[in-house]
Amino acid sequence: MKDEKTNMIVVAGAGGFIGGHLVQHLLQKGYTRIRAVDKKPQTQWYQRSPKVENLTLDLSLLPNCVMALQGADEVYNLAADMGGMGFIENNKALCMLSVLINTHLLMAAKEVGAQRFFFASSACVYAAGKQTVANVTALKEEDAYPAEPEDGYGWEKLFSERMCRHFREDFGIAARVARYHNVYGPHGTYAGGREKAPAAICRKIAEAKMTGKHEIEIWGDGEQTRSFMYIDDCLKGTFDILHSEWVEPINLGSHEMVSINQLVDIVEEIAGIKVKRNYNLSAPKGVRGRNSDNELIKKVFNWEPSIRLKDGLAKTYAWIEAEMKATGSTKSVVNLY
Ligand code: NAD
Repeated sequence: MKDEKTNMIVVAGAGGFIGGHLVQHLLQKGYTRIRAVDKKPQTQWYQRSPKVENLTLDLSLLPNCVMALQGADEVYNLAADMGGMGFIENNKALCMLSVLINTHLLMAAKEVGAQRFFFASSACVYAAGKQTVANVTALKEEDAYPAEPEDGYGWEKLFSERMCRHFREDFGIAARVARYHNVYGPHGTYAGGREKAPAAICRKIAEAKMTGKHEIEIWGDGEQTRSFMYIDDCLKGTFDILHSEWVEPINLGSHEMVSINQLVDIVEEIAGIKVKRNYNLSAPKGVRGRNSDNELIKKVFNWEPSIRLKDGLAKTYAWIEAEMKATGSTKSVVNLY
């Protein structure tokens, strides 16, 4: 039996937020053969390590997937065309096209004989009818059916979950699926239109602090609810799910639900300022309420994401504020190691 630390691990989407952290996480765990792949030029990757093989390839194309997965034992698919509500509500076709990435990666994984395959699904697969009130009942895994997912992005995730199931059942690939609920942390998108709520609120409050104009725009009335998972919890869960024998899609998210107004309260406290809140009721808002039911993950792994929002946000805010000060800009910049 081959020592697992010398297994060839491929991280697809390694130039992005979660993929970039995952490469660092795997290095810290002692993996010695890691291949990081992303479509973006490497100067635009959020994190890039000289200790791994870095490839720029468009993984929506099958020949590129076969090239990327040569010799692969394990594959993490974190590659997708995605963003926060502002992006996914206005780019449904682009979101659906991510189906090519997961499908071709699975086909390539079969061709090269990869043993394990991880797919990053999303809480956006859950039925809209179960997320209509702010004080929502947390979503259990079975709430994805009957299917009524987020249009575009959610349908692609649900379809790709099925594709993973059938590659596992028909071709024996150990495909594992986690349904991420809002992941946040440093080294991710905080401006430009693809950012999600925690990074956007941190950026807006940092900007208010830097300019002295203490007011921000909030999308919706701020009473919509969500839970947010800090990146370190996401990395542990992702690794454990891939290496487990649990085969069904499983929630990977925090159970600490807050309203967007409460999220702003926390970031105000971290920044040490109060801001006037201007509510934009016509902006994209997504579902009214969403939380992760963690009974299953607790049962299977005896663990659940538990990093407190205020602790994760303190680290995220500090990074975003430092980036903005360093560049004098509110645009996301790229950090190279
Ligand atoms: P991200 O946008 O930071 O990273 C995705 C990366 O995929 C980007 O670097 C992008 O360049 C790359 N990519 C896109 N198309 C590609 C292609 N054709 N070939 C190769 N690379 C390509 O996003 P993220 O937050 O790191 O998300 C990672 C995964 O987790 C995605 O599948 C996403 O849908 C899923 N997810 C994320 C969250 C979250 O809150 N961040 C929540 C639910 C699910």
